[in-house]
Amino acid sequence: MELKKIAIIGGGAAGFFAAIHAAEGKNEVHLFEKSNKLLSKVKVSGGGRCNVTHDCDHANKLIQYYPRGGRSLKKGFEIFGTKDSKAWFENRGVSLKIEGDGRVFPKSDSSQSIIDCLLNEANKKGVHIHLKKEVKRVKPKTKGFFLKINEKEEYFDKVVLANGGYPKKEAYQWIRDLGLEISDPIPSLFTFNCPEYQMKELMGLSVPNGSVQIPGSKWKESGSILITHWGFSGPGIIKLSAWAARDLFEKNYHFPILINWTKFKEEDLRTLVQDYKTENPKKKILSHPLFDISSRLWQHLANKAGICGDLRYLDLSKKVMNKWIEHLVRDEHQVKGKTTFKEEFVTCGGVELSNLDLKTFECKDIKGLYIVGELVNIDGLTGGFNFQNAWTSGFLAGSSLSK
Ligand SMILES: Cc1cc2nc3c(=O)[nH]c(=O)nc-3n(C[C@H](O)[C@H](O)[C@H](O)COP(=O)(O)OP(=O)(O)OC[C@H]3O[C@@H](n4cnc5c(N)ncnc54)[C@H](O)[C@@H]3O)c2cc1C
Repeated sequence: MELKKIAIIGGGAAGFFAAIHAAEGKNEVHLFEKSNKLLSKVKVSGGGRCNVTHDCDHANKLIQYYPRGGRSLKKGFEIFGTKDSKAWFENRGVSLKIEGDGRVFPKSDSSQSIIDCLLNEANKKGVHIHLKKEVKRVKPKTKGFFLKINEKEEYFDKVVLANGGYPKKEAYQWIRDLGLEISDPIPSLFTFNCPEYQMKELMGLSVPNGSVQIPGSKWKESGSILITHWGFSGPGIIKLSAWAARDLFEKNYHFPILINWTKFKEEDLRTLVQDYKTENPKKKILSHPLFDISSRLWQHLANKAGICGDLRYLDLSKKVMNKWIEHLVRDEHQVKGKTTFKEEFVTCGGVELSNLDLKTFECKDIKGLYIVGELVNIDGLTGGFNFQNAWTSGFLAGSSLSK
């Protein structure tokens, strides 16, 4: 077999996985990292614990956790899915655990276990690692590529771009120069700022079964909602930020939201309140919260509708009841800006999937050039899905190169 000289650009999760698998075929594999740190996102991921993948094993289900690119990953997940990622790390001595919500972490609760495993494996396979080497240009030739690395040019037979996501267009110019289509990069996974809202006294309060929608759009997500000192966060909000990332960017992050603080639809809630009113006419509204709403939030929402003091269900007028139900199921807030979700963020956008053969992540029009990880227009929700994209695409590119 002809030995190939392969360049991997980027020392993150996808770059390492591609390098390790490309080196299986005894190729000469060089990994270039522009900074002086390897796997730096893995280090901070999952609050330092590294949510390495998810327990969802079925490709059909797994793709539903990707606001962009999920369907294109289906074939890839069938070849190297979450089960394979778990087995890969466990076979190399990293014990994993699955948490109640399906997220998978190393048992050590330390991302260093994942880093050590990847570094060991790269070392065993003889991957040459070069720090502080920034690739500034890739020039395809009739055969192979010339790379500008710092200020020097060097020849490689094959190249894997694994230089990650970055929410600024300019960072992609040298990739666009290759003639590849790039979907403009913007942030995904963020929390909502509501500078004018009156809920600061409730900060820290989390509502487990809420839902949030953006009126006049198709965007609606359910899940826990956390009241913060600047606005709203929690899984329901973060999920919505990911699915609606591009629309929200276009609105310059200024838009209204409607929060349902309960798990009920308006008609059902109205019936439940009416039944409760009939059965408990003398109960004071403020001191008898319903629908698992905490008493602080209950009082806040009731006060907003004009319910105060000792008002009993018996005394509740139709007008006040309507207003109150409105606040329970369609509580309106104005979002004016976003805040990065510190625990995980990802870039929406990147190299368009139409440029790639999704069985190998090789460019259709530039043979020998592969593009993997977050640099591709694929991004997932929180839960281990973004690393799974890195493992799957890195594996497909790397193992294609080792054949
Ligand atoms: C705080 C945080 C926590 C996260 N937690 C999780 C989690 O728990 N689970 C999960 O699934 N996902 C998580 N993610 C997302 C996940 O980290 C990324 O999706 C994943 O790391 C992407 O891997 P990558 O290799 O494609 O890119 P990156 O990890 O970004 O790696 C790219 C590398 O390329 C280098 N590089 C860039 N340009 C060049 C160049 N021109 N030349 C040479 N090198 C270059 C960069 O310095 C970088 O080291 C988290 C993200 C963040 C920011």
